[in-house]
Amino acid sequence: MLIGLDIGGTKIEGVIVAPNTAQVVHRLRVDTPKTNYMAFLVAVKEVIATLLEKEAVQSIGVGCCGSINRATGKMQGANILYLNGQDFLGDLRASYAIPVALTNDANCLAISEFKSGAAKEATNSCLAVIVGTGCGGGVVIHGDIVDGQHGLGGEIGHNPLPGFDSRIDGPAVKCYCGSTNCNESFVSGTGFERTWAIKHAPLSAKEIFAAYAGGDAEAIQHVEYYADCLARVLGTIVNIIDPEVIVLGGGVSNQDVIYPLVTQKLAEHTFSNSITTPIRKALHGDSSGVLGAAYLPVMKGLVEC
Ligand SMILES: [Zn+2]
Repeated sequence: MLIGLDIGGTKIEGVIVAPNTAQVVHRLRVDTPKTNYMAFLVAVKEVIATLLEKEAVQSIGVGCCGSINRATGKMQGANILYLNGQDFLGDLRASYAIPVALTNDANCLAISEFKSGAAKEATNSCLAVIVGTGCGGGVVIHGDIVDGQHGLGGEIGHNPLPGFDSRIDGPAVKCYCGSTNCNESFVSGTGFERTWAIKHAPLSAKEIFAAYAGGDAEAIQHVEYYADCLARVLGTIVNIIDPEVIVLGGGVSNQDVIYPLVTQKLAEHTFSNSITTPIRKALHGDSSGVLGAAYLPVMKGLVEC
């Protein structure tokens, strides 16, 4: 059995997964402490302790916001701010005799979908992209998640939008990360609403997609524009790693209309005009974080099952 933890700003979710069936056999959730790192560490260990009482477990995998700086071993870029600068993985490894591994939540989406989800027929590679409140990604190559030298593997949300043209894409937009015209400002759900509001009265993404379904010409134009942005983003990644499958997660990924549009436009933004890469909706939904985390030590070869 494998433990998977999904740690976010509001909740810590822990599960026990049966490795061969991908079935979650135990699950619990607690609130993420708001106070400090020590309270956080206590809460995480209590979740693990509760799970360890239920089954014999081979490993612990953690999916968490932020990443580990390989040079220092410490957390960076986490939106649970007290985590940054802490040796979270080291503190966990010091507490347990079984292997512990940690990666970020977008990587967990890639792992879970590669192992048992929408990319499970892939034998070597997949790209997973979250188009939700923000935009992040994860890359599997040779059956292993690419964390990268600085923990940045798959972080496509903060590359500049390929082919940015203010006549098409609107005025340049500054990102909280310090860069300009980040992909996230265009292809996240927030970006979908932001680019709509450049020319129209503000609407939620759901309202715009509802207008699209109702045949509204402006909404149709905007959804096609969005699909083109996403195809531009994905096309640059295809030209580098050419994955077997692309999986989309997050709020916008639930809009089925985008798949044929992005698939059609992908060929326009890649080096080959005969691109056949399937683009699919993530299968595991909200469980991708815990499942990907649970599989992480297996993918890293820390345990066999
Ligand atoms: Zn950015």
